[in-house]
Amino acid sequence: MEPVKSIWMDGELVPWAEANVHVLTHGLHYGTGVFEGIRAYGNDEGTAVFRLSDHMQRLHNSATTYSIPLKYSVDELAAATRQLLLDNELDSAYIRPIVFYGSGTMGLNPSKATVVASIVAFHWGAYLGEEGLQNGIRVKIASWARISPRSFPAGKATGPYINSVLANQEATSAGYDEALLLTEAGNVSEGSGENLFVVRDGEVLTPPVSDGCLNGITRQSVIQLLADDGQEVIEKSMTRDDLYAADELFFTGTAAEVTPIRHLDDHEVGDGTPGLITRRAQELFRDAVGGKLAAYRDWLDYI
Ligand code: PMP
Repeated sequence: MEPVKSIWMDGELVPWAEANVHVLTHGLHYGTGVFEGIRAYGNDEGTAVFRLSDHMQRLHNSATTYSIPLKYSVDELAAATRQLLLDNELDSAYIRPIVFYGSGTMGLNPSKATVVASIVAFHWGAYLGEEGLQNGIRVKIASWARISPRSFPAGKATGPYINSVLANQEATSAGYDEALLLTEAGNVSEGSGENLFVVRDGEVLTPPVSDGCLNGITRQSVIQLLADDGQEVIEKSMTRDDLYAADELFFTGTAAEVTPIRHLDDHEVGDGTPGLITRRAQELFRDAVGGKLAAYRDWLDYI
């Protein structure tokens, strides 16, 4: 990846090469961190961060859930993000806030460790490739089950992402673009870093959060955009056979945006090209983040 000039760390902008931590960082050993992924879009009126406060609020909620003291408020983190984008002269960016237990103690109990908060912003194009965004990606159902909410509470904590990494590695090394995970019980959950939408017999469905998926901010946005456009989205538990017979499938996520799925395991989805509802969701999302839809202006935080 291309380095940028500065990284925000504990209240200060430090040069890229100096934003380092000790090898005894607790979060490195035990995954005791929480993080976010946010995008900023350059549009006709400037640079707009998409749902900045909602992301920083989710970071706070994750920190509370995982008992990590976060001393910066949502507003302070949002201000730090603006300062960071300006300092690096980024008009569009992927933004990665992270809060984790630092060094100072070994052993599982992190209460005596320091807490490090950092925000990095850098250029990142289409997460699943420009061609995937246009024409759809190939997805494989992972043999690994999604970790249950009985094991890891909801939120974006770093440790549990090893489950996503395993699923993603399995799918990509088999020649697919991304993995889809099922719960232990066999219900459809989510992609390794995306939520799933299913179009079947004229209905638009998405798994409920109780099936172990993150309540993605893109997921919530697409549900609202489609509903306001007259297309209700129903939250419903599904099994893999519901997907093989689907007319359309697509992923949503901050990094992935709205990405069509054209192939699942050895099944072509629909006719193998993105369907009408997928295209509509892409268009509405692109227009919302691009500042073209007045009704969703409050989702945009201009720098
Ligand atoms: N599920 C997982 C496992 C993710 O990592 C992400 C990315 N944050 C999502 C879903 C999508 O969430 P969002 O739309 O808030 O980025």
